[in-house]
Amino acid sequence: MTMESSPAPSVPAPPLIWENTGFWEAVKLHQLVFQRCKNCGKWLHPPRPSCPSCRSLEKEWALSAGRGKVHSWVTYRESPHPAFRAPYSVVLVDLEEGVRLVSNIVDAHPDEISIGMPVEITFEDIAGDLTLPRFRKVA
Ligand SMILES: [Zn+2]
Repeated sequence: MTMESSPAPSVPAPPLIWENTGFWEAVKLHQLVFQRCKNCGKWLHPPRPSCPSCRSLEKEWALSAGRGKVHSWVTYRESPHPAFRAPYSVVLVDLEEGVRLVSNIVDAHPDEISIGMPVEITFEDIAGDLTLPRFRKVA
């Protein structure tokens, strides 16, 4: 009788809908992009059909500098999914462009995270065809 290890559980992939396809295609190339209104220049996230400031339907995908600060965070002490090993932290990051992104911190213990902590984007290629944008502390 042989003991076979079961495969590691997969990280659930984000659902692709027409508004967010450009975001995830860029992430796959290790680029962080957000929608930007071509009429008034406002950065938009999450992706949406029209600009909430001027109601324009004209948007473009614009490259973010990938720098921001932690707006808030929560640390999970128990995992809600077998692919996520607790403890891990979910952060809300305010990007310099004025949008907020939900993500994770890759190189900080939960006790090191603080509101206002400067972070920068990094990308993690997950098994399969999935790449996720994550953040790391800025030294
Ligand atoms: Zn606009």
